[in-house]
Amino acid sequence: MFMRVDRLITELPPPKKQDPNAAAALQELLGGKYGEMSTLGNYMFQSFNFRSKDKLRPFYSLVASITAEELAHVELVSNGVAMINNGPEKPKGDMGDGGDISKSPFEAMEDIRLASAFFANGGGATPVNANGVSWNNDFITTTGNVIFDLLHNFHLECGARLHKLRVYESLSADNATGREVCGYLLVRGSVHAHSYALALEKLTGVDIKKMLPTPNINLSKIPESQKYLDEGSHRRLYTWSQDDYKEISGIWSNDEVALPGDPPGPLEVVEGIPDGGKMQQLQGVPSAFTPDYAPEEFYEIASKLYKASR
Ligand code: MN
Ligand code: MN
Repeated sequence: MFMRVDRLITELPPPKKQDPNAAAALQELLGGKYGEMSTLGNYMFQSFNFRSKDKLRPFYSLVASITAEELAHVELVSNGVAMINNGPEKPKGDMGDGGDISKSPFEAMEDIRLASAFFANGGGATPVNANGVSWNNDFITTTGNVIFDLLHNFHLECGARLHKLRVYESLSADNATGREVCGYLLVRGSVHAHSYALALEKLTGVDIKKMLPTPNINLSKIPESQKYLDEGSHRRLYTWSQDDYKEISGIWSNDEVALPGDPPGPLEVVEGIPDGGKMQQLQGVPSAFTPDYAPEEFYEIASKLYKASR
């Protein structure tokens, strides 16, 4: 089962400008072949399909617990996409009727790469890649062969790193929101690649972690990754559960250390979830008819219901 917490896995800085084409670039990290929907889908179905769960618990628990983190990554990228599509919030921008729609309030959307993100989704995210092609089940590998699945997961995390580095390189220097998404996910992806390498090493004796980092660039070259490295995020794996999946410490054990090139120290399992950060509250946009119809009335009804629930 899953439990949900109304926080973002890390806080994202608000965007300085509206940049729908940059939001489209970020879509690759959501619905691309190596995007968060793919890591989520792979680990989720592998964990559902896992045979001899009890006998292979550290390996089952690794895939099962990382599944939950990938769902939080899907949420992080989706928030990033919506924030960059939206741009800076306007004070009281969600009040009133949106003005005269015959004055082309969304003319800026005419030339954007993923126009349907605005037309269909009101600036929100959906599982498509940077070209608007739907994410699909063919990106999921769940063979039931533990070595093969773990090897696929290792490849997937390296592929995700490649995508994130390239998207990062495409974002303008003032795109703090998009760069934060990439900087954070590069650190966490590095943890996942490392953990799958250790799992494969325990099972086969092959020291796969020597291939890391792939692509061969240290996280210290990415300013947005720096504070996460300083906090030790690259050494931390979460169980994402109060009581379960603690066996991952058999793989992510504290006699193992951080990868060469990253700040040194022992690996550490955290029982539970990360602290996470505040989620930016995107306001309604009356001229896009979100949330429609008469905002003040909506907010009044919601506020009455909220008070009655306390
Ligand atoms: Mn991820
Ligand atoms: Mn991952």
